[in-house]
Order: sequence, then C-alpha cells, then structure tokens
Amino acid sequence: MIIVTTAGITPDALDRIIEHVESAGLRTHVSRGEQRTIVGCIGEEGRLSEHGLTQLEGVERVIPVLKPYKLASREFSVANTAIRLGDTSDTTIGGRNVVVMAGPCSVEGRDMLLDTARAVHAAGARVLRGGAFKPRSSPYAFQGMGEAGLELLAEARATTGMPIVTEVMDPRQVELVARYADVLQIGARNMQNFSLLSEVGKVQRPVLLKRGLSGTITELLMAAEYVLAQGNGDVMLCERGIRTYETATRNTMDVAAIPVLKRETHLPVLVDPSHAGGRAHLVTPLALAAVAAGADGLIVEVHPDPKNAMSDGEQSLEFSAFAAMMPQVRAVAEAVGRTCEWRSNATARATA
Ligand code: PEP
Ligand code: MN
Repeated sequence: MIIVTTAGITPDALDRIIEHVESAGLRTHVSRGEQRTIVGCIGEEGRLSEHGLTQLEGVERVIPVLKPYKLASREFSVANTAIRLGDTSDTTIGGRNVVVMAGPCSVEGRDMLLDTARAVHAAGARVLRGGAFKPRSSPYAFQGMGEAGLELLAEARATTGMPIVTEVMDPRQVELVARYADVLQIGARNMQNFSLLSEVGKVQRPVLLKRGLSGTITELLMAAEYVLAQGNGDVMLCERGIRTYETATRNTMDVAAIPVLKRETHLPVLVDPSHAGGRAHLVTPLALAAVAAGADGLIVEVHPDPKNAMSDGEQSLEFSAFAAMMPQVRAVAEAVGRTCEWRSNATARATA
C-alpha cells in the first residue's frame, strides 16, 4: 500500500509512520515530491491495518495497490521520473526532451567504436550504446570483447562526453560492468532473470530494462519492480519488439505498449526500433512512430560498415542514414509537444 502524507509533515511524524510500518515487518520506500511525501510499503500488507495507519499523525490517505507492482505504478508517483544519465553529463531521460542513444550492437574494436561514437554524437545522439557481453542465440557466435570492450567504451566516453550504456548478463558481472557503464542494460532474454534484476537493484546506476521476447507489459513492470524494490529507483523500460507469428520483421514493435506504459508507470519509456524491425530500412519509420506515440527516448544500432558487422548488421544504420533520421525524429518530437535537443548546454553556449 501507499501512504500519502499531509503537506508539510514534520520529520518526526514521518519517522513515526516509517517505524510503524517497519515494526510490522514491512519495508518502506520514501519518495519526496514537491507537494507531498509518499511512503511505499513493501511486504505482506495483511500485517498492517489500514484503519490503524490513518490514525497516525501526518497520514492523509492510504491507498491499497492491488497491482503486482507498486513502486513502478502511477499510484506511487504521479509525476514522471526523470533520470540523469552519467555523472558529468547534462542528459536527463523522462523529461520533455526525447533522448537518442546510438552505437554499434557490439564493440568490435577501437577504431570502429570511436568512429561510430564521433559520428552519432555529431548527428545528435546523447548516449553511446555498445555491447561488450553479448547474449547470442548461438554459443558459437561472437560473444563480445568483455572487459576490453568496456575499456574502449570508457575511452569513447572520454572522447565525446557521451555517457555509455552496455549490457550486463550475469549477476557476477554487475560490479565489473557498473565500474565502467553509466547505464546498465538488461537484455530481453534476461528480463525475468530475477537474481540479475535484484543485483542491479543494489547498485546506484540507472538500469535500461528491455522487454522480454514474450514478456507482457505487466511482466515487464514486475521485472522493473524487482530492481526498484532493492532501492535503485532509476529504471527505464524499453520496448524492443515482441515475438508474433509475423516473419516479415524480426519482431513486432508493440506501439501500443508505449501509451499503456506511460499510463501505468512513472518510469521513462524507450523504444529500440533496431531490434523491433530487424532491418535497417524499418528503423526510421519505427523510430518516428515510437516518438509520435510518446516514447521518452530511442536506442538505435549504428555501424560504420553494417555488411561486415559481427552482430546485427542487417538492422544497423550507416552513419549517413542515422544522420538523416535525426532531424525527422526532432520534427516528430516537436509535433507532439516534446523537444529533441542534442547539443549539450556547454556546446550550445559556446556556439551561441
Ligand atoms: C542489444 O541491444 O544488442 C540486444 C541484444 O538487445 P535485446 O536484448 O533487446 O535483444
Ligand atoms: Mn543487437
């Protein structure tokens, strides 16, 4: 359940509410909004009396949350959660600005990564993507460069100033990947790897959680809840296409998932048009549809030489195609009352 406190509640009264809930064996999660402080209660709700709670000083309302996710729900936070990406960048996702993340499917080497980083940055990407640990369907396919790939991503961040997002596949890798990455990606195949979700919930790094190949929207939200329940509130969700009977596209992009998620949750919603369509020519139309439907950001695969990419070449954009897509993304963002600013404030000032 969620406890909405009265405006201007004193710290002592808030402490007493928290003590009351925790002494019943539940955990609390406090969210301080501009108007109200909200206390989320996590655990066996049957141990708490709703009536008893409403008698406490500073309690305005008690809202039972019947959904299987609570911290992720709109009841818990009416305001959208905006997540700052990177310790030194000025990029935030979940606000008015639509954020584009781009880069190769896999980090394959130094030159290709730095070239791609520079190209996508110049075209307007604000975050660099690149896999160092790759979840490949075949055990004989390229599995990624591992830590050497993470080091190259860190170098690309230093060169361009873009924060980096990269996948972590195993709970044992979380500490290592979190040392390099600004955003931890949980891949579609791991959406319900609950031990991995709990592990990334214990580190203070934003998490980009991809929807599973056959994951329902509710299952995606419950997966996010695993991360949130461990204390990491910075989770963004990503629609990347689901498996259907259609074979003309790699997956089927569920456009409706975007407004459904925006209604159900305060967490930012991203779309990956590359894995959704699986073909380079589908990326721009799917990206535009996603932004039109309310996505907070995009994550797009770009490669200097898609024909020779070690993974996902068919769906990777060449630099010129990515650069051509960006003004269209911006135009659609503006048409739906958003922005798609890509110059950092520092660059904007320098060139003003
Ligand atoms: C990826 O981002 O390269 C990737 C493997 O994505 P997904 O987990 O959505 O398949
Ligand atoms: Mn890929």
